[in-house]
Amino acid sequence: MDTPIINLKDVNMRFKMPGGNYFTALENINLFLDSGKIAALLGPSGCGKSTLLRIITGLLKPSSGKVYYKGKVQNGVNDKMAMVFQNFALFPWKTVKENIELGIKDADSIEEQEKIIEHIVDVVGLEGFEDVYPKELSGGMRQRVGIARALVSNPEVLCMDEPFSALDALTSENLREEVLDFWSEGTAGLSNILIVTHNITEAVYMADEIFILASNPGSIKFVFHNSLPFPRDQKSSEFLSTVDTIYNILTQNIMPDVPKTKIYEKIAPIPLVSVSEIIGLLEVLDDNKGRLELFELSDRIKRDFGKTISIALAAEMLGLVATPRHDVIFTALGKKFLDADVNERKLIFKDQILKIPIIKAVVELVTQSEDMVITREECEEFLADKLPNERPEDLFETIVNFTLYAEVLDYDSRDEELSLIIENV
Ligand code: ADP
Repeated sequence: MDTPIINLKDVNMRFKMPGGNYFTALENINLFLDSGKIAALLGPSGCGKSTLLRIITGLLKPSSGKVYYKGKVQNGVNDKMAMVFQNFALFPWKTVKENIELGIKDADSIEEQEKIIEHIVDVVGLEGFEDVYPKELSGGMRQRVGIARALVSNPEVLCMDEPFSALDALTSENLREEVLDFWSEGTAGLSNILIVTHNITEAVYMADEIFILASNPGSIKFVFHNSLPFPRDQKSSEFLSTVDTIYNILTQNIMPDVPKTKIYEKIAPIPLVSVSEIIGLLEVLDDNKGRLELFELSDRIKRDFGKTISIALAAEMLGLVATPRHDVIFTALGKKFLDADVNERKLIFKDQILKIPIIKAVVELVTQSEDMVITREECEEFLADKLPNERPEDLFETIVNFTLYAEVLDYDSRDEELSLIIENV
């Protein structure tokens, strides 16, 4: 068997947090990628895709484990790889051509440099725009500059971090197709493309290998070999059924059908969403006869897929919805909550959040402390101790948001103190 171009062995990435605890962003990553393939790293926001891409390119050193490039241990930044960013990362005071020039690593002469730029400008369709400044360009044209700047370094692997997600649907569709064109024509001299995305259709449209990631901690759950022939027709039944298969794998892994009782058994993280996001989701459900499929829900509430899942999981944890397979449906309590007036809603919410172990534990901590007041710092230390793999500041924000709404705890943001609202407990 040929040596894979990229191979990761037992890679882990932990970040040290301000309180001294560690956050595990990636756990036990083993990955092989053969030469000549387009690969996608697919998963919800925050599952570690960008971190993994940065480790692959050598921009970030993993806490443990090894990265091999063509069979050799990679040390430091891999100069055979070039990166394209979601936000284009262009210098506004430089022209298109000057921005592209920045990517050139080695050219023997000015003439050669000019030739390289001319060729790549042609490959990405920027002819006639060389002397224009980025602000005069549309998002799609700016991303062409980002791609051109990456290509002039003559990389073997083109790494793209959510390259099309800041663009409108039509522009991103066109650019995807053009990337596939220069890839298949071989005009850019690439051996591989590696693309980070949370968009299943994009992954199925472009990639031969789809690495499906899940969060908490970030890990590869499944590698899908996508053998649909190019050019891929997004409307064909084979394409749609591949999207559906991946969708099932993704939802099974990040939204398993866990028996409800499990949620209330032990101290576990809670999804980092706000009460208003939960209510917004319930309202959209109500407009749709109390049942919506997750993709559609994500579309209706105008949140990305990962965020939609977090909001649905929070609503489920509160007993307001159920999530059979990939549908989200009202529970009787959810419907009652939505139909209730503000005070009744708060009471229902209070009952539900006090069943969630980590929230209950924080409320008990406040209740048992002197004057029934604790500082934000004390609370975050407590959270870091109970859930070392979570970010205490994020958990704190969420718990304060929930308990304030339910009128269980009060938070004074000036003194950074959390206190009990006595009449309500
Ligand atoms: P994705 O690309 O899938 O959205 P990221 O790789 O950006 O996810 O982030 C994965 C997790 O790691 C997130 O919770 C993020 O906040 C955390 N993270 C990323 N970089 C750092 C860092 N330098 N320090 C601390 N946490 C980080």
